Amino acid sequence: MQQHQTEIRHDWSEQEVRELFELPFNDLLFKAQLVHRQHFNPNEVQVSTLLSIKTGACPEDCKYCPQSGHYNTGLEKERLMQVDAVLEKAKQAKESGSTRFCMGAAWKHPADKDMPYVIEMVKGVKALGLETCMTLGMLDEGKAEQLADAGLDYYNHNLDTSPEFYGNIITTRTYQDRLDTLHHVRESGMKICSGGILGMGETATDRIGLLRQLANLPKQPESVPINMLVKVKGTPLEDAETLDNLEFIRTIAVARIMMPESHVRLSAGRENMSDEMQAMTFMAGANSIFYGECLLTTPNPETHSDLQLFKRLGINPEQRISEADETQEQLIINNLQKQQDQSFFYEA
Ligand code: SF4
Repeated sequence: MQQHQTEIRHDWSEQEVRELFELPFNDLLFKAQLVHRQHFNPNEVQVSTLLSIKTGACPEDCKYCPQSGHYNTGLEKERLMQVDAVLEKAKQAKESGSTRFCMGAAWKHPADKDMPYVIEMVKGVKALGLETCMTLGMLDEGKAEQLADAGLDYYNHNLDTSPEFYGNIITTRTYQDRLDTLHHVRESGMKICSGGILGMGETATDRIGLLRQLANLPKQPESVPINMLVKVKGTPLEDAETLDNLEFIRTIAVARIMMPESHVRLSAGRENMSDEMQAMTFMAGANSIFYGECLLTTPNPETHSDLQLFKRLGINPEQRISEADETQEQLIINNLQKQQDQSFFYEA
C-alpha cells in the first residue's frame, strides 16, 4: 500500500469536518483506515485498566454522571482509597497484561490535603513499571506541576461536547475552565487524554464542534476517549434519545482522520455494543479500550469476552514492553479472573 505522510492540522473548519461526516459510509471508513495504517499497527489495540480511587458525591452536576452528588443514583459513596490498596490493584492490572493504569477520583479538583496521597499513588504505580494516568477534576498550574514532578504520564480531562451544547450538560464549571486545565496539563509536560460523550441529545453540529475543539488544540491529545452515553437511572439523561450506531462509528472515523497520531479510545458505553459494532469501530480507527468488569460508573463488557473478540478479530493488545504473545495472553487470562469491583465512572 502506498504510504504518505498525513499532515497534523490544527485549523479544521466546521465545513471541512461536516464534509467528512457526509461522505458515503464506505468512503469514510476507507479514508479512516488509510490514515490509521500510516500511524498505527491496525491489528493492535492499547489496553488500559481503570480504577476509581474515590467514588461518588462529586459536587459537579454533569447530567450524565451517576457520581454527581446532585442526583440520586444509588451509587455507594466512598472515601479516597488507601495508597496500599491502590498499589495492590495496580499489581493485579500489570499481572493481567495491562500497560497503563488509570486512577479516577470524583472531585471538582484535588484538595491540598489529598495531594500527598495522590502523589504516592503515582510514584508507586510507576515503580511497578506501568504507565500512569489520573483524572481528578480541574487542575491549576501548581497541582499540574506537582503531578508531573511525581512522574504522572497522562492526565484525563474531557471536553465532553461542543462549547455551544456544554451549558445544557454542566453548569458548575465552564468550558473555559476545562480548556484552562488542559493548558496547565500541557504546560507541565504531561500527556493529555481528552474526549467526549455522544448521545446526550447533542446535534451533529455539536459532534463536529467537539472534534474541532480537540483537533485544533495547539497540540492534539495523545488519547481521545469517545464515550457512548450510558443512561443511568436517576441522572437527568436517563431517557435521552439513543444515538444511531452508524453515527457513532462515523464520529470515530472522523476523529481518526482529524487526529492521526492519537489513540482513539472506545470508552463508556462499550458494554452495550455488539461484537460487530465494536469491530466496526476498530475498523474506523479506534485503537484503545479499557478492560475490567466495570468502567468507573458503568459496567464494562466482561473481560473474557474482550479477549475472545480480540482473538476472533486477530487483534493483539499493544505492548509497552515486548513480551511473547503467549506470555501476554496468559497474563490477560490471569488478570481477567482477578479483576473485580471497579465502580465505574466517566473519566471526569
Ligand atoms: S463526570 Fe466527573 S466531574 Fe462530572 S459529576 Fe462525574 S465525577 Fe464529577
